[in-house]
Amino acid sequence: MKARNAYGQFINDNCNHLKPLSEKQVEGIIRTYPEKTAMMLKTKTICTCCGHEFENMPGKTITCPNCHKKLEVKFTHHRYNRISAYYYTLLDIYKGIEVIRHFLVTKYLYKKDSKPEYNINEVAQVWIDGKNKPKIAARPVTPFSFDRWLLQYDMELRQRYYHNYYSSDRYLIGGYPISGGKITPILKKRGLSVKTINSAHTAQEDIIENVYYNSFAEFLLKVGQIKMLEYIINHESIKNYKYERQVKICNRHKYIIEDASLWHDYIELLDENNYDIHSPHYICPENLKLSHDWILKINLKRIKKEEEEKLREQIKQDKKAEKEYEKRIKNFKNMDITDGNIHIKVLPTVKDVAEEGVSMHHCIFRCKYYKKKDTLLMSARNNDGERVETIEYDLKKMIVVQSRGVCNSQTNMHDQIINLINSNKSNIIKFKNHSLRHKKTV
Ligand SMILES: [Zn+2]
Repeated sequence: MKARNAYGQFINDNCNHLKPLSEKQVEGIIRTYPEKTAMMLKTKTICTCCGHEFENMPGKTITCPNCHKKLEVKFTHHRYNRISAYYYTLLDIYKGIEVIRHFLVTKYLYKKDSKPEYNINEVAQVWIDGKNKPKIAARPVTPFSFDRWLLQYDMELRQRYYHNYYSSDRYLIGGYPISGGKITPILKKRGLSVKTINSAHTAQEDIIENVYYNSFAEFLLKVGQIKMLEYIINHESIKNYKYERQVKICNRHKYIIEDASLWHDYIELLDENNYDIHSPHYICPENLKLSHDWILKINLKRIKKEEEEKLREQIKQDKKAEKEYEKRIKNFKNMDITDGNIHIKVLPTVKDVAEEGVSMHHCIFRCKYYKKKDTLLMSARNNDGERVETIEYDLKKMIVVQSRGVCNSQTNMHDQIINLINSNKSNIIKFKNHSLRHKKTV
């Protein structure tokens, strides 16, 4: 990509000429390379760490008799050369600018009893100077691929690339750290260290960028709320994190948040249930797990109460529909379809339909199935009277439209229920005709 200004041009001119990795750094990569597998073929196993070939052994993890490394076994029909690939990342400084350099490290094993070879190629860089937006320099990729880098081409300025399908940013790499990383004096002054960046559970670029450009991120770092910083970077927006004040109160009370995701969840629940989220009594709990469980229970109770309230309101508004429903199914009231294990009965009132919907967690009531004409709503229960499935039956076509268990599931009694209804078709017709006769005489 052509540079639009002098800074872009500067990156284009220099990105391919940064200092190559030292021998020590390369050794470090090979030493810490995470993949340790054995290729298991039909008759022999090959250690991909030393190339040694030996007889197959039982087990998913085995120890190489030659290099004594613990290996994860991978079954394969053919021996292959390209074993694996991982990203490694170096924090570097070029003329006062922080450059995050990403390297693709590919492991090959070509020959029997020879050590694997590692190809190390720099594929992308993020330039962060604290004044301009972070800039990307990278090699191109194969068309329609996410990160199959075309290594024969140099790096140059690129636009950020966000791939919907992979739902991630191609250049947000976050590789294993390479030793000898450096950060600029400004970043150090803001409380950042190479160690913090390398041990954080977030991409190096994310943490550096946020600390460079956002004062709340800098604050979190300086006061040691690292877990909170990581959580916000990974899950929320640091620019307008809605519980910033709460984090600051925690900090004033020297409360370090360890499980940030649980704490965030807990504060959100306190907030939703109208507890005082400015009180350290609530927001700095001694035992977060217990407090979280406590508020979770309160929240469930509230939701249940609200749901019941809503149902009551709907029943009240639907008085007319209620009357019509009860009139319509009046003659089916005494119908009991049973095989001795299951009893299928109509839901006699709209209140019963509502109760069925609440305890079965489905939408029979909320979606107003009781307003549907020529429809029987039935509940299948076991001998102990426990609900098994709810059935919608079409009285015109004389078929089961649907039969569903809790949360719309299909229970293991589903087929039995359907068969039972189908074999009682004549019985249902009898009740139906009775109801029609009844209608005519009224
Ligand atoms: Zn080995």
